[in-house]
Amino acid sequence: MKKILLFVLLLPVYSTLGQDGEDELINPKDLIPDIVIDLKYSTSDHMFLNLPEGDILLPKFYTANECLLLSKAVKMLKIAQDSLRNIREFNGKQYPNGIGVKIWDGYRPRSVQYLFWEIYPNSTYIANPETGSKHNRGGAIDLTLIDLATGLELQMPTLFDDFSTKASHSYTGYLPSEVLYNRALLKSIMSEVAGLLIYDAEWWHYEIPGASNYPLLDFQMK
Ligand SMILES: [Zn+2]
Repeated sequence: MKKILLFVLLLPVYSTLGQDGEDELINPKDLIPDIVIDLKYSTSDHMFLNLPEGDILLPKFYTANECLLLSKAVKMLKIAQDSLRNIREFNGKQYPNGIGVKIWDGYRPRSVQYLFWEIYPNSTYIANPETGSKHNRGGAIDLTLIDLATGLELQMPTLFDDFSTKASHSYTGYLPSEVLYNRALLKSIMSEVAGLLIYDAEWWHYEIPGASNYPLLDFQMK
């Protein structure tokens, strides 16, 4: 009797894995050649330790600018990029080659999650490594939009990893209308068109539904 119960309880978890290789991690460029990868944690160009006394050398948490994501996440991103690429005008601005996605973070080794948590144990912005982040499972993406003709980022409410209320989708303070339009475009393409889920506290974070069902991983990028 106990065995049967255990089987039933485990079924919902396992049924989401192993379908069409969706639990496999792949490089988004394999499916979306024009997507831009700029993994901030593979450089010192990030704000992560800029709190509250920023003037220290920022470590490179990743060994390479090599993005990996669950193939299910990449398929959803492809839907987003295919739709964005066709935009030629938005909010009065011209985009001769369309709009594209730039990825700041994807799969993140769990050991890096432990480092983050040691530095900044605030669960609004950093998932506790004991339970793990959806980034540790390859199911979450931090991203922004770029003009594909110039490579320049569209103006958004904050920089990446600005851990303030201004980064929230529900921020009610002043933001320029262009910023509000850009954030709304990102949100509608990612969630309504591609089917990714938003995270209210961070405008740049999107994740696949059921991301917590995938295994926590811990290997460095090559
Ligand atoms: Zn994220």
